[in-house]
Amino acid sequence: MKTIYLIKYAEIGVKGKNRYVFEDALVKQIRHALKKIEHEFEVRRAQGRIYVDAEESGYDKETDEEVRSALQKVFGISGFCPVVSVEDKDFEVVAARTVAYMKETYGEGEYTFKVFARRAQKDYPMESPEICMELGGRILDACPNLSVDVHHPQIELNVEIRESVFIYSETIPGLGGMPIGTGGKAMLLLSGGIDSPVAGYMIAKRGVLLEAVYFHAPPYTSERAKQKVVDLAKKISVYTGPIRLHVINFTEIQMAIYEKCPHDELTIIMRRYMMRIAEHLAKEAECLGLVTGESIGQVASQTMQSLMTTNEVCTLPVYRPLIAFDKQDIVDISEKIDTYETSILPFEDCCTIFVAKHPVTKPVPEVIRRHEGNLKEIIDEMVEKALAEHEIIRV
Ligand code: ATP
Ligand code: MG
Repeated sequence: MKTIYLIKYAEIGVKGKNRYVFEDALVKQIRHALKKIEHEFEVRRAQGRIYVDAEESGYDKETDEEVRSALQKVFGISGFCPVVSVEDKDFEVVAARTVAYMKETYGEGEYTFKVFARRAQKDYPMESPEICMELGGRILDACPNLSVDVHHPQIELNVEIRESVFIYSETIPGLGGMPIGTGGKAMLLLSGGIDSPVAGYMIAKRGVLLEAVYFHAPPYTSERAKQKVVDLAKKISVYTGPIRLHVINFTEIQMAIYEKCPHDELTIIMRRYMMRIAEHLAKEAECLGLVTGESIGQVASQTMQSLMTTNEVCTLPVYRPLIAFDKQDIVDISEKIDTYETSILPFEDCCTIFVAKHPVTKPVPEVIRRHEGNLKEIIDEMVEKALAEHEIIRV
């Protein structure tokens, strides 16, 4: 095993006892991300640092690419540094390896650099300033394209004497955020659209574990529409970890609303029942909130009046991470996380089937409540049935 990466994470808010919770969760998520790669790795914590070690034999460029791509999908990593580790701590060996590293990494380009040496091992025969001086001199001799700038160096070359000697200078940016599992759990209302997968991604980025619920309306919505939602859940699970997807058959409820309620209020009433059912599932699964992809003014059901009317049926907090986002900004994220292409597949959505030509844009909660009263003899049983028969797909 050889150390290949040093993991960096933002330390704000992870002091004291929280630090261990954060680091444990991060180590667990990194292990999970690397499990998909066919190679042997060890993820370990040492002296307040997280390192990724890899079996030396068979660790080629292709495997390294896979490791980088995996680390770039783990929330909580602010950046990671490719490390050259040298087991032989003899200074001549270290110096030769450091010079070779600088040559390989920075080739012919003109750069300024500064050496930062650290001795975790205090009985090392040289002190840090001496190591810096000596290494700096040898690099200058060997690399005419490099010069020293102690105030604003372009390259910060770190040489750390620990159980091995670690040489590194580059940081590959990570996603930031918090490791999954450090927040609570939330229930995402996941439709086949562009917004809700992005909303789930954003909440998960704050360390929140996700469950999801999808409302479908067979035979008005097809198996392919459902498969699309499963595919979207799979796509975001690359970042969020495994998701339990609850699939609710919403047809009967939707038909009842269609028959008994004013058509311009269909969408809003439907959304209220979705929220009620989602909240029931959320409480059962010990979630601390609901998540939707709503954004002010995007459609009639997302005006502030509509949001207020939908919101009033919930007792759990409803998180709407996209609330102030423009559509294009949401599209940009969906492209980045690779959900866009799936989201735009043209399968029917249960909301669009019964949609009115002129839906209310300023619903009044009392009026909506009164019209929902038309359903009172039948709706409870329908909701219970939908909940009792719902399907769970593990993604
Ligand atoms: P999206 O792109 O996320 O589908 P949208 O712009 O189509 O959103 P609406 O259809 O009004 O907007 O839905 C608003 C939010 O309600 C969605 O972001 C999603 O969280 C939830 N939602 C809508 N339809 C469904 C459904 N069939 N199943 C689960 N959640 C849904
Ligand atoms: Mg939608």
